[in-house]
Amino acid sequence: SSERKRKKAGPPKLTFEEIGGQDSAKQELREALDFLIRHEEIQKFGIRPLKGILLTGPPGTGKTLMAKAAAHYTNSVFIATSGSEFVEMYVGVGAGRVRELFRDARTRAAKENKENAIIFIDEIDVIGGKREGGQQREYDQTLNQLLTEMDGIYTSDAPRILIIAATNRKEMLDSALLRPGRFDRHIQVDLPDKKGRRHILELHAKNKPLDKNINMDKIAEESYGFSGAQLESLMNEAAIYAMRDDSQYITQKHLSMAIDKVMMGEKTDRESNE
Ligand code: ATP
Repeated sequence: SSERKRKKAGPPKLTFEEIGGQDSAKQELREALDFLIRHEEIQKFGIRPLKGILLTGPPGTGKTLMAKAAAHYTNSVFIATSGSEFVEMYVGVGAGRVRELFRDARTRAAKENKENAIIFIDEIDVIGGKREGGQQREYDQTLNQLLTEMDGIYTSDAPRILIIAATNRKEMLDSALLRPGRFDRHIQVDLPDKKGRRHILELHAKNKPLDKNINMDKIAEESYGFSGAQLESLMNEAAIYAMRDDSQYITQKHLSMAIDKVMMGEKTDRESNE
């Protein structure tokens, strides 16, 4: 069933505190989410309700984490899916899945007695790419269905549904998706700066035995350009090196080796893609 396919679904316990760096993105997101929380005032002032937030930025920067934290922050049911799950050979299947997705969100919110539901769609560009020159594509219907569902959100009763979509190619998106009342709030999730990298490294070191003399600032400096996902990898590789060394602690040396390992890994990945 679709429930099974959306593996990432489930009650997220993740909070914004567990996301390293990304201070301004987290702040912007919280402000946007307050629209959901303060829905009564929003209505009183006649403000258009927020239906869609678009997170843009490179892979592995924590967009999925942000969506999960958003669900926690707003006490929402959380349903996660990816644009690629809607791509089908047969016309109409993708559109059916979009309908099912919204139905699932409503059913789960009712079952769990929640006022809000957040639907996270990763890789939105897969279904929401530009429709060029009237050229029909087999999944145009999928995108149309998504737009229809979004337009219908506030004409129906509870739950209040918010869609958070992620992409690393915003310029590829069809303008219909970006119109007011759809994904009209954009939040940039960039690669972390040095301070952010340090924060992320510390979060991922929490459950690991670190040597007291480690200079984490230096590691943050040397991991320039790393994403959150790569920093998580770095910490994990360092722990593996420490274990192989029969060391009691992860040392500076293990961390330096892990930086090289993650960098090399990236390089071989890229080469094998070429
Ligand atoms: P993609 O675009 O590839 O889907 P993403 O931006 O959604 O990537 P996530 O799936 O949120 O990235 O991050 C992947 C993993 O990397 C997380 O589970 C976490 O371990 C780590 N990570 C990424 N960013 C951060 C961060 N800011 N703080 C802590 N951990 C992070």
